[in-house]
Amino acid sequence: MVQVLDSHDVKTTCAYCGVGCGIIARVENDEIVSVRGDEDHPANFGRLCAKGMSLHETMGQKHRILHPQIDGKRASWDTAIKKIADKFRTVIEEHGPESVAFYVSGQCLTEDYYVANKLMKGYVGAANIDTNSRLCMASSVVGHKRAFGSDTVPGCYEDLELADVIILVGSNMAWCHPVLYQRILAAKKTRPNMKIIVVDPRETASCDMADLHIPLTSGSDIALFQGLFNALDTDGVRDLDFVNVHTNGYSEAAKASVSFDIKRVSRETGVDANTLKSFYDLVKASPKTVTVYSQGVNQAVDGTDKVNAIINTHLLTGRIGKPGSGPFSITGQPNAMGGREVGGLANQLASHFDLAQSKDRDIVQNYWNAPTMAQSSGYMAVELFDAIHRGDVKAVWIMATNPVVSMPDADHVREALEKCELVVVSDLYDNTDTVKCADIILPATGWGEKDGTITNSERCISRQRAVISALGESRHDWQAMCDVAIQMGWADAFAFENPAEIFEEYAGLCALDNNGSRDLDLSGLCGIGQDGYDTLAPVQWPIDKMGKSQARLFADGLFFTADRKAKFVIAQKSEKRESEQYPFTLNTGRIRDQWHTMTRTGRAVRLSQHITEPFIDIHPDDARAADIYEDEITAVQSVHGQILVRARLTKRQAKGSVFVPMHWTDAHTANGRVDKLVTPNVDPFSGQPAFKSTLVNVTRFKTVWYGFAIFAEGITPHLNAPYWTRSVVDGGEQVELAGIEIPNDWADYAGDMCGNPDNTEVLVYKEEREGVFRTAYFKDDKLVFTLFIAPEPISLSRTWTVEQLKNTHSGMSRYTLLAGRAGDDVPDKGAIICACLGVGVNQILEAIQTGASTVDAVGECTGAGTNCGSCRSDISHLLQQNTHVEANQ
Ligand code: SF4
Repeated sequence: MVQVLDSHDVKTTCAYCGVGCGIIARVENDEIVSVRGDEDHPANFGRLCAKGMSLHETMGQKHRILHPQIDGKRASWDTAIKKIADKFRTVIEEHGPESVAFYVSGQCLTEDYYVANKLMKGYVGAANIDTNSRLCMASSVVGHKRAFGSDTVPGCYEDLELADVIILVGSNMAWCHPVLYQRILAAKKTRPNMKIIVVDPRETASCDMADLHIPLTSGSDIALFQGLFNALDTDGVRDLDFVNVHTNGYSEAAKASVSFDIKRVSRETGVDANTLKSFYDLVKASPKTVTVYSQGVNQAVDGTDKVNAIINTHLLTGRIGKPGSGPFSITGQPNAMGGREVGGLANQLASHFDLAQSKDRDIVQNYWNAPTMAQSSGYMAVELFDAIHRGDVKAVWIMATNPVVSMPDADHVREALEKCELVVVSDLYDNTDTVKCADIILPATGWGEKDGTITNSERCISRQRAVISALGESRHDWQAMCDVAIQMGWADAFAFENPAEIFEEYAGLCALDNNGSRDLDLSGLCGIGQDGYDTLAPVQWPIDKMGKSQARLFADGLFFTADRKAKFVIAQKSEKRESEQYPFTLNTGRIRDQWHTMTRTGRAVRLSQHITEPFIDIHPDDARAADIYEDEITAVQSVHGQILVRARLTKRQAKGSVFVPMHWTDAHTANGRVDKLVTPNVDPFSGQPAFKSTLVNVTRFKTVWYGFAIFAEGITPHLNAPYWTRSVVDGGEQVELAGIEIPNDWADYAGDMCGNPDNTEVLVYKEEREGVFRTAYFKDDKLVFTLFIAPEPISLSRTWTVEQLKNTHSGMSRYTLLAGRAGDDVPDKGAIICACLGVGVNQILEAIQTGASTVDAVGECTGAGTNCGSCRSDISHLLQQNTHVEANQ
């Protein structure tokens, strides 16, 4: 009998970056079986990157928190809610409202964020709610407010397609916002004269398709943009009508920039004069210029001033709010913008009301009918964990984020949580570093189960829909907070039955007395009811009473300051710090296929194949001076501690600086949480930590052996080595290892590592004098465990070896496996470059060697780069460097 499936499609949105792509999820019997891009969604028009395409592969029960837990024991929701409410109430009574806090996330939906803010700012009466978005774009928020009087992103994604010049500043868009980058490349294909300029100390993947790379010294962006301002101003490339009528502060800004001639800028940025001249000439000649900036700008002690230095150039030229021109801050997270809208930061109030203004506080307090109101800013992220460490904050509720990995000085954050009287963590998985610090763990709904709205980087509000039933006893974050609020005696204000009711209240606050006086107007979404909410199509704010939406703001020259004029802000460069003991500048960032702390993307096989280990990128000259060689384990030290990562020698990294990705956690590696090294210096205006400028040293880790192991599903790895890192593969896990002492007996070591599973046949190969040991465990004809040991970094075909988990083995095939190489008759695809179609580096190189000379031609031969396009910059790089092949990972 044919089984009839309950199969249907649901429109929703991606859970990862700030592009906010629309997704169509295919559901069969309450399970998401596939996802595809939503062709109607204005962010992506059907495109998705590898992360978005793999969303459904990150779900499932493994490590999922299914029930509340108190002190490690299962508890009922009622008990957990009562315990949280009682403790919060007691602490507030004894120590005041500032002694409790929420730390939330850009993964929260707008409705979650709204309830959290209402509860903390209007009912607890403190502003101690901050979010991991503080780490991402707080400097842009302050920069916008200083220049425009409001936190407004003036433009939209279409501007990137209409621009003649796009300047990417501190943004590796090819990897971090891949769909947007693909939109730019598609536009460039139809208009080849469009120019892409990358401003970044690193030669990132985004440079592979760029026309010009400005490899400025880390932290010298302000000098570069002061120089650009000066060049535009002195050459008359300015719009004085716009400046005179619509701005304040031009004369002071011009005076402050006048000494930034090319000579000075070249000296301060380390960029040669010719490159600077090319940059300035391109911008001068292109009224349609968009400057995109991201974490490389924001995550600095002078991040806010960098933002204003960029905005100044657009105010000077009047290149703002017009098709194809404007400054454009791109957010890292899917709902960083939604959080900003509802006051998700400790220095904000909901609906773009101003926490610093008593009039605004009164309006919001009245609207909420709130008994009390926060009167001033609360603790911002770094301050918050310091306050917890000091004991000033005694109870904290953390939602959908992993600060023990992602905060600067992350060990200090862990210590703070260990000391805190009550730590509540709402999350999906029980193996995150932060969940391990919790007294009370609450099972939260995750992507596919959550129901609400997000707002992407271009102010577009989209529905993220519940596609399947919530697992176990999971609840939405807004529900859990309402339950606690009701328990604390505020039932009327938190009697929300569903997210549509929350959205209605939020939209009402945005619309309150808003006749164009505030940028965030949702008048047109008031009263849409449950049906309107259910069917809400993506729409950009502001949306007026007639339902008219605005793609761009400020085209009329009217800003949201008191006199409706924009302001030039004079940017001040911070002093460069130096240290003999820590001679390198550490830059942290993201890689193509992982997201934040890998709690979700680390579960997807196809996302784990591109880069499987934490690494350090270091210039070969610096590496040589430090006696560090390719693929060796390297110690990176700052005043806060040490991590161990794999060395990658590359001239794409500037001398004197190193790069380490921020994703790896204690769940994935022995000692690779890079943010524990980061000094918690912050921008004085935004409180955003400077993740790009920690002073570190790098030294060779005195490794005497290296290992590579594969574990079949069902075999639990017991890892005992100073360096290990694990990643999921099809049918199990792969592990890289290294050590500084050789065990007495490698066979015993291997047995301990795999737990000596019953009924296995063990094959061993040794070259004792050479320090080589290899073993493989077979159960019937299946490989269940294998370990390769050598005195130098293991050289074998990992992709091929992992594939052997799926094959059957007897006779010679078992010995071939121990060789770690396919036979000559079996092609070895090598490290996976195209995650969508599983195309390896060797296949791409073969295509290049047989004549493919463009990215498209490689795609025609191999399929690589023809699906989501995220790997096209990697293919381009292989084309440029076709003799250089990364270690065969
Ligand atoms: Fe998701 Fe990728 Fe789109 Fe970002 S670019 S929203 S990660 S699909």
